[in-house]
Amino acid sequence: MHEGAIIHSLLEIAKETKIKENLKKVTEIKIVVGKFHQVIEEVMITNFKYMKDDYDGFENAILTMTERNVRVKCLDCNHDFSIDEPIFMCPKCNSFNTELTAGKELYIETIEGTD
Ligand SMILES: [Zn+2]
Repeated sequence: MHEGAIIHSLLEIAKETKIKENLKKVTEIKIVVGKFHQVIEEVMITNFKYMKDDYDGFENAILTMTERNVRVKCLDCNHDFSIDEPIFMCPKCNSFNTELTAGKELYIETIEGTD
């Protein structure tokens, strides 16, 4: 259940931003999550709904999530590919000498609110 832990830290960051930007209400939090983290959007949103009540001014806030594909580059043949399963093998030359180039993202893109 790491979704709960992720939502907790996102809410903490959003709380800081809310104070810094003098927002009364937070209306929307947009996040970007790489598929490497293997979070389930519905679980994220459910967690968010329950956990936001502990934060002042988040009553009407909604969470929207954009997923990023996991992309891998083969260091042997330079083939660039995206994967759905955590199998880091190059489909072209079967090498495991690969590196992750995208998909580890986990950040808040924007926080909207009213002041
Ligand atoms: Zn390769």
